[in-house]
Amino acid sequence: MQDSNTDSKIKSFASEVRFASMFQAAQYWLRKGYLVMPVNFAGTPITANGFKDASDDPQQIARWFSREPILGTPEVNLATVPKPDSGRFDVDIDQHGKNGFLTWRQLTKGKTVPRTLTELTQSGGLHLSFEAPYSVQRSTGNPALPGIDICGQGGYVIRAPSVRAKGAYHVFDSPIVAAPGWLLEITEKPNEAEPKREFERPDLSGLYLPDMINLSKFRKSGSRYIGPHPAHGSFSGQNFSVDVSRNVWHCFRCGSGGGPLQWVAVAEGIISCQDAKPGAIRGMTFWQAIAAAHDRYGLGFDKAAEILNRGQRND
Ligand SMILES: [Zn+2]
Repeated sequence: MQDSNTDSKIKSFASEVRFASMFQAAQYWLRKGYLVMPVNFAGTPITANGFKDASDDPQQIARWFSREPILGTPEVNLATVPKPDSGRFDVDIDQHGKNGFLTWRQLTKGKTVPRTLTELTQSGGLHLSFEAPYSVQRSTGNPALPGIDICGQGGYVIRAPSVRAKGAYHVFDSPIVAAPGWLLEITEKPNEAEPKREFERPDLSGLYLPDMINLSKFRKSGSRYIGPHPAHGSFSGQNFSVDVSRNVWHCFRCGSGGGPLQWVAVAEGIISCQDAKPGAIRGMTFWQAIAAAHDRYGLGFDKAAEILNRGQRND
């Protein structure tokens, strides 16, 4: 039951990569910017800590893959994991169950789909590899994208030349290209779960985020307001949240956040959004943030002195 679109799409790509050994295949996927790991016939990692053990260490890779006896036997299959902090991710289009090809066709209607590294899976699905300007998180079962998973940080993808119950995986070589904006848009949907609380510090500034950020067009979810990041923007229009009861903000794209003073520092370009983590504001950036908070939001210098006296680590 091959989707007619699959064949025509595949033919337009460069020729299939043929591997002489699983070890050679591992080298190929490393060159493409992934970590690799062994999985079994069922596609389950055969490492002690699952996909967390994926590696680019030459000795480890030799131990895993160089003794694989005959290519195509189901003894060792191969999977990849995006390197940490890389923007590598894959769009996984399935045609079993919900037909992801229908979703993909609707999603790409009237848009340019750049040619990129493409893999045909054992069950007639596709893996399309892309590069994003930020770490993309794994996202599966999104009701807005039936049959399509986003495979980023936090998961793994089975790779050619693995062989499983329904057949082999095939890869068609091409450079991995930058994901277009319309595709990035579906990779930064906020996780409705609470962001980690590690960014929270007692706020000493007396500033209140809803007085500093216009939330009028934001979507409300409990005590959180979700909308586009006011400083670096958003592809999806919902990569940023402000929790008005805790007086903290969170960026879903950068995985960063903080309180009012960190927000001043990001909004004024004193630190980058990615750097908005505990301890980021200190020394000169602390004084810059204090000065900007004074100019823009009326932070009193008595408050600044208080913050300073209570310790800059409580930024
Ligand atoms: Zn950000």
